[in-house]
Amino acid sequence: QVKEKGRNGVCFFDTTMLVQVESRFTLEKELRRALERQEFRLYLQPQVDINERIVGAEVLLRWQHPSLGLVPPCAFIPLAEDTGLIISIGEWVLQQACFFLADFQAKNPDFHLSVNISPRQLSQAEFVSNLKQIINITAVQANSLTLEITERLIIQDVDYVSSVMSKLQDLGINLSLDDFGTGYSSLAYLKRLPLNEIKIDKNFVQDIGNYSNHAPLIEAILAVARHFNLTVVAEGVETIEQANFLKKRGCHFYQGYLYGKPQPLETFKI
Ligand code: C2E
Ligand code: MG
Ligand code: MG
Ligand code: MG
Repeated sequence: QVKEKGRNGVCFFDTTMLVQVESRFTLEKELRRALERQEFRLYLQPQVDINERIVGAEVLLRWQHPSLGLVPPCAFIPLAEDTGLIISIGEWVLQQACFFLADFQAKNPDFHLSVNISPRQLSQAEFVSNLKQIINITAVQANSLTLEITERLIIQDVDYVSSVMSKLQDLGINLSLDDFGTGYSSLAYLKRLPLNEIKIDKNFVQDIGNYSNHAPLIEAILAVARHFNLTVVAEGVETIEQANFLKKRGCHFYQGYLYGKPQPLETFKI
């Protein structure tokens, strides 16, 4: 397998093969049809509290391609971003996620769901009203929903996006800055965007135990979060050593292979 360093970092899916089999044009055409052909799948990865109790999950998108198999998001989200298809794909993800959440909450009232959102979606004039409609139709509690915005994609119009985010918070929705520390504007975003949560990027988490001087950076991230009154989620927790290090320093929630891999929504259990 080829490790391709794309916009989203290392992609373990062999995208060069994918491009050999299918031209970018074919791929784009198929991506366009994937929604009507119902080829997208939602996977859920559990999030736990300091007592390792499952409190929620993150929704992670996959593409069940008819000949290529299960395609990870790093191989098609960038194309979806470039073509604008992320708008309709993202809306579908939100709809499906909210239908699932409403159903799941009947038995697990405190369960929450985090959904990844592209900054391009936030720039859509209808985003807030569309989401409001989804929330009304599905009857989910807005405060059980968190939208994750990755700071790796540069936010074009910070003031506009920030005003949209405030409207979402007025609805009760929680907002999270994903992949914290990997972009160029981490600290500036904390000041300018209304946020409830940050997610420490898995690269920092995986430094714990591998890199002797990891402590100062993670301690600084946690101190900054405390200062801004933000909930902290650690992503990519794989070892007990990483979990214990973070627990000792007050990280609130944990997500990673140590607690569970992403699994199909249909079979998700807690
Ligand atoms: P993300 O939001 O930062 O999601 C976390 C990624 O880390 C997921 O990769 C997850 O499977 C992986 N991960 C979780 N725990 C571990 C661990 O312990 N070790 C390792 N090595 N990896 C772990 P995934 O599912 O491939 O998603 C990649 C990215 O694609 C996501 O990063 C997110 O930015 C994007 N994405 C996924 N679904 C959507 C979506 O519905 N909409 C949008 N706009 N982006 C999405
Ligand atoms: Mg995320
Ligand atoms: Mg993340
Ligand atoms: Mg990440």
